[in-house]
Amino acid sequence: MEVSNTSKNYIKDLAEFIALEHEEIITPLDKIVDSENLFVFYDDYGKSFDGITIYDDNRFYIHINTERGNDIDSTRGRFTLAHELGHYFIDSHRIGLMNGLLKPHPSFNDKQKYNRIEREADYFSSCLLMPEKRYSKDCVGRKFEFAIIENLAKKYRVSLTASAIRFSDIGNHPIQIIFSVNNEIAWKWASKDFPYKYLAEGNSKIPEDSLAASYFKTGRGEKRTEDLSVGDWFKCYKYEDEERNIYEHIIPFRNMALSVIWED
Ligand SMILES: [Zn+2]
Repeated sequence: MEVSNTSKNYIKDLAEFIALEHEEIITPLDKIVDSENLFVFYDDYGKSFDGITIYDDNRFYIHINTERGNDIDSTRGRFTLAHELGHYFIDSHRIGLMNGLLKPHPSFNDKQKYNRIEREADYFSSCLLMPEKRYSKDCVGRKFEFAIIENLAKKYRVSLTASAIRFSDIGNHPIQIIFSVNNEIAWKWASKDFPYKYLAEGNSKIPEDSLAASYFKTGRGEKRTEDLSVGDWFKCYKYEDEERNIYEHIIPFRNMALSVIWED
């Protein structure tokens, strides 16, 4: 499968242009779907996928799977639909689907995407739902605390994870995001200017003294922010960094934990 390379800037400009045509802060995906004459179906498709886009008989059909929690106005359903819209709006994806070079593919919104076209569609979704022009304005002038990510998630009707990822990219304070499943790091993501690059016990291990580790150890823990030392999470090359203050906000959920980490 060959799809021509698509630049990040092109995707961002495209998605944000579409979003900013509308006054609504919560991007009105239904209006976008209608104006493009797309067919969207919400149905129970078992465990098979979150969303899929199919081109048939000169039309695009988007299927969204309610069985995996993608209800029409839910944060998950909106992210999935915006991802599928990425496959329609990004030229190389749309043309690929139309001429059969890009096969319709089931998309999952909770796995780390290694596949380039999936990453592109996710980035499109993030920009469509949280255009930089609006989102970054909402970040300025306030000292960072986790509540900012939370408030922005509510305001733009996106998940906390989606809001945290967007914040790490265009927010006004560097953060590190770690998503763990079954006591293992599933993926991590950091702002470009986040000062620590390496985890204390190797890049695939949750460090012993973190909130995430204690959640997996005890199976108990509620959503909270706590202050730790930099050395609890990260490798330090300077002695004085070890004891510097760092914050971890953890959101535990069943066998998963989302940790957001930052310095003052
Ligand atoms: Zn996809």
